[in-house]
Amino acid sequence: MQNPFQNAMAQLDKITKIKDFGEDFILKLRQPDRDIRISIPVKMDDGSIKIFDGYRVEYNNALGPYKGGIRYHKDTEVNEVKALAFWMTLKCAVAGIPMGGGKGGITVDPKELSKAELERLSRGWVRKLSDILGPRKDVPAPDVNTTPEIMAWMSDEYAKITKDETRATFTGKPLDKGGSAGREKATGLGGFYVFDSLREELGLPDKCKIAVQGFGNVGLNAAKIFIENGHSVVAISDSKGGIYNEQGLDIEKLSEHKKKTGSLSDFEGGKNITNEELLETKCDLLVPAAFENVINDKNAHKIASSAILELANGPITPEADEILFEKSIPVIPDILANSGGVTVSYFEWDQNLKGEQWSEKEVYGKLLPMMNDAAKKTYKKAKEYSTDLRRGAFILALERIQEKM
Ligand code: NAD
Repeated sequence: MQNPFQNAMAQLDKITKIKDFGEDFILKLRQPDRDIRISIPVKMDDGSIKIFDGYRVEYNNALGPYKGGIRYHKDTEVNEVKALAFWMTLKCAVAGIPMGGGKGGITVDPKELSKAELERLSRGWVRKLSDILGPRKDVPAPDVNTTPEIMAWMSDEYAKITKDETRATFTGKPLDKGGSAGREKATGLGGFYVFDSLREELGLPDKCKIAVQGFGNVGLNAAKIFIENGHSVVAISDSKGGIYNEQGLDIEKLSEHKKKTGSLSDFEGGKNITNEELLETKCDLLVPAAFENVINDKNAHKIASSAILELANGPITPEADEILFEKSIPVIPDILANSGGVTVSYFEWDQNLKGEQWSEKEVYGKLLPMMNDAAKKTYKKAKEYSTDLRRGAFILALERIQEKM
């Protein structure tokens, strides 16, 4: 399988076949502005020292400060971070926010560290990178396995080193540490708003049966929001496997079950399924909300949903994209579908700089029209170029970045 950055560049290549953006511009977009690799020494609880690999990729800042989350994962490596930083660049442009694209990470399985070790590691990442970070330079946020608490440690470390008290360098902070109301649900909710504004155009029923891969921040919140809005979630999974119920799952009870047993398996209100089965569920909407490359040339022909909403970053490989296109399964692409998260991150940054605190209602009131606008403009671009929504979103983003550059 190709690495995620090769996938991202393959997506870019496809666009150049539809619209000529000029060689110089595309050449510039094939590399990040900066790709920084660090080693972070951490004193472990037993007194020993362990060295961790960390990353920050600053991809493009034509539209504003670099913006993008920090991922903690045992498989995190530079190509993944570069791909995610590239997608962030396009995502901010699609969402219409004045931010550029970046991403960070540490190769670590956070479950293997104590809380104190995790805090020392997180503060260590900031110490190595504080020179390049800042409200007007580079603004990180959470991603897979990084939490508001970790953002609070990082924000605190940054303030200690630089004396910057705006708290606008990190977003996704807890509410009492300068966070924004509504950030936790923002990605799932934004995804729902995008889906809702395209639902009729995509020929989907007003009550959809949905399968969600991922039971974390994005997957779980999205599942709850879809249910609140009259749809049903017939399947959902985490890394160990999933649960299926044709009549719809009770997500609150399933969450309780997971809290008690540590897994989704053997939930009374459904039957156990594997992650492969989840992706092949017959339904109206499939929502990959876990990891990249989960829909690829091996399983794309088995997808049995009427449409896909990509809440994870890069869940569909370029080969699978072609197969789905031939099968006429529309894909609402990640850079549009999950842009609610970065949009509310931008709101948090804006509030920090202005010394304001908006209510959840105000935040969602600002999010809704921005997501609707991004969805409608993407749809229009796809129609204009007789192409799919991913290419429509890429063209919209690239036009905005090119104009600024
Ligand atoms: P998270 O760590 O909260 O949750 C990830 C979920 O995926 C967990 O339930 C985990 O069990 C599951 N998972 C891990 N590996 C899996 C596998 N191989 N198969 C099935 N499930 C697996 O992470 P998150 O914040 O919910 O992010 C999920 C995805 O959404 C990522 O691709 C992330 O980049 C993307 N995303 C997140 C945000 C955000 O605001 N958190 C914003 C935009 C995009």
